[in-house]
Amino acid sequence: MSGKKKVDLKITVLEREIKAGKPIYILSISGGKDSLAMWLAMHEHGVDNMVPVTFIGGWDWDCAMEEIKRVELITGDRCRKLDSTGYFDNVLSLRGWPSWHVRWCTGYKRDQIQVFINSIARAYPEHRVLSAVGIAADEVKRQKKNGVKSKNIILPLVALGLKERDCLRVCAQAGVTWGGHYYSHDRMSCWCCPWQKKVDYRELYFNNRKKWNLMRAMDETAPEGRKFHWGKNSLEQMEEIFKADKAQGGRKCLNMT
Ligand code: SF4
Repeated sequence: MSGKKKVDLKITVLEREIKAGKPIYILSISGGKDSLAMWLAMHEHGVDNMVPVTFIGGWDWDCAMEEIKRVELITGDRCRKLDSTGYFDNVLSLRGWPSWHVRWCTGYKRDQIQVFINSIARAYPEHRVLSAVGIAADEVKRQKKNGVKSKNIILPLVALGLKERDCLRVCAQAGVTWGGHYYSHDRMSCWCCPWQKKVDYRELYFNNRKKWNLMRAMDETAPEGRKFHWGKNSLEQMEEIFKADKAQGGRKCLNMT
């Protein structure tokens, strides 16, 4: 046993029956349109042995969690929650916001999901374990990324020819609407993700001031030099830009250079 890490010994036995002679599909669920459409479409196609799993870092939108619950009811599959609430806040206070060079959030999330997948593979050695990722048929760049080229990763939306707009339709037909989230947001990222579009932050500032203020408080905890910035603007500067933008009727584009 010496030399092995605890996570390398982990075994996850599922409470549900696993059908013999078929692979086990681990579905990575973010709670956004693509992953939920993947789950719904696979259910519609009668795929057996589906095991949805979601990572919770603590920066998740409530509406995403609500819709995961809805799809659980529709499909009868329980979504496993890898709950690391508090982890992101903690790392933010130690290392600052994730950056292009140090994208600690996605790395941790990916590792946690992989630990889960490995623990299932250990529990069911007689089954092939495949990881299903919700990349849409028209997300060509994402399909080419190294991380999705493994033979153990499948892209059901690509196989079914479902594009991003189809995913919204599949979800809407199932009553999954996130309370209108996609009317005002481009995607379902963490609500304070540093890689959102400026319209997402503007939406937060004008229509979700509680979260905007929380983001400013979170930014206070980040070490100097690792604070939030969008272009060259701090959150405080972004507020000034948003206010000026509104004063001009909201028509002038923000200068974020
Ligand atoms: S949505 Fe943004 S902050 Fe959240 S894990 Fe992904 S890259 Fe990191």
